[in-house]
Amino acid sequence: MIDAKTFVEECIEKKKEEFIEVSAAVWEYAEGGYQEYKSADLLCRTLEKEGFAVTRNLADIETAFKGVWGSGHPVVGLLGEFDSLPGLSQKAGCPVHDPLVEGGRGHGCGHNMLGTGCLAAAVAIKEYLQAAGKPGTVIYFGTPAEEIGAGKTFMAREGAFDGVDFFYTWHPGVTNEVANCHMVANYSRIYRFKGVTAHAGGAPHLGRSALDSVELMNVGVNYLREHVIQEARIHYAYLDAGGTAPNVVQDHAAVKYIIRAPYIWQLDEITRRIDNIAKGAALMSGIEVSYATESAYSNYIPNEVLAKVMSEAMISIGAPEWTEEDYELAKKFADSVSDNCKSDAVRLITCRYGKEKLEEKLNQPLDDMVAPYDPDHRLILTGSTDVGDVGYVAPTVMASAATAAFGTPGHSWQITGQGNSPIGHKGMLLAAKTMALASIQVMEDPQILADAKAEFMKKNNGVYDCPMEKGVAAPKFIS
Ligand SMILES: [Zn+2]
Repeated sequence: MIDAKTFVEECIEKKKEEFIEVSAAVWEYAEGGYQEYKSADLLCRTLEKEGFAVTRNLADIETAFKGVWGSGHPVVGLLGEFDSLPGLSQKAGCPVHDPLVEGGRGHGCGHNMLGTGCLAAAVAIKEYLQAAGKPGTVIYFGTPAEEIGAGKTFMAREGAFDGVDFFYTWHPGVTNEVANCHMVANYSRIYRFKGVTAHAGGAPHLGRSALDSVELMNVGVNYLREHVIQEARIHYAYLDAGGTAPNVVQDHAAVKYIIRAPYIWQLDEITRRIDNIAKGAALMSGIEVSYATESAYSNYIPNEVLAKVMSEAMISIGAPEWTEEDYELAKKFADSVSDNCKSDAVRLITCRYGKEKLEEKLNQPLDDMVAPYDPDHRLILTGSTDVGDVGYVAPTVMASAATAAFGTPGHSWQITGQGNSPIGHKGMLLAAKTMALASIQVMEDPQILADAKAEFMKKNNGVYDCPMEKGVAAPKFIS
């Protein structure tokens, strides 16, 4: 009988240079949402080389794909991401802000490691099933545009994940754990205003300004913020301010809103009120407005049964073995962040390790433990992920592995820098081993899977109500 833990650890260690190379290449490509052509191609070719049958252009999205190995049930899915963020370019391992490409994109959310870590897990599961002669199927899903395009939501709506029994994935972070967290639902919505142009000096009475409308809308939404549930978040950015000439009445303008709330039904209620504000602003300016949802994310909650298995798998593997060099580099990154982020690090370390270890961990700011899953305390995090939508198709859990120093803020150049350094690589390999071992344990115990499915059925009765309308295609490009 093969020991799954030893097998998975040896398998991933043996191939780790190959996985690190893939992660580094995706890091360097740093492609945007739905534009991840080179990253997707490299991941597809790596899967093919490892014996997976690859289907590209999944759900009619050019950079979505899957790699399948094995046959029959149980079927495990791994959810790989590989999109980058604008403006977060940074040289590898460099703790002083120094973009690789001035103003360029960077993996400031660590998705190069996310996508590659899931691939490494898929390979290890395949090797194990093959060596043990066990039935089952492992599927790596390439899921584009997580950051703002919600690729998984479109894929889920088109049935790309149907037939999978359960999913595991992970996200790079500053801690090693399977967190009991609720991540909120999210709509990205675009409001376009159409007015009438005129000479702003000579004949302003003939003009109807679209820019005025956007400004009135934003003021209206500022007043709304006081009267929504406290977990809600409403952010906006101008897509089109109507041009650069103040002496031409702006006849076009557009604004993108991102609206977050713990559940879709709360989001729908807030969104209706924002739509009314947009209509009111257009009425005040005497112009027209149109709006549509560009992407949508359902809320994420971990499947408790699968979370416990994954947490125990991570504890049994243990935190990465950090060297003195890793700690030195982490300390430099920790020193580079703002005072507010440093205060966050103090709070996190104190809560995780106790006050007595604060000094030591501030000097060696990398997580060297694995915190157990805590079923009694669920945190509401006001970030979102399209992993939530997959969680309405089948039982799903996401782990976190430390790929950055304590205090490193999300979506930052510091994440880009550490994401292609020994720190990031070690965290990625821990995540890969954890996902592989947990998947094998679930596949080998029908009772665990039955319990996970029973819990899933209680959550939504097995029905996925996609927040994206049928017929609205995934964008080809997302800014
Ligand atoms: Zn992310």
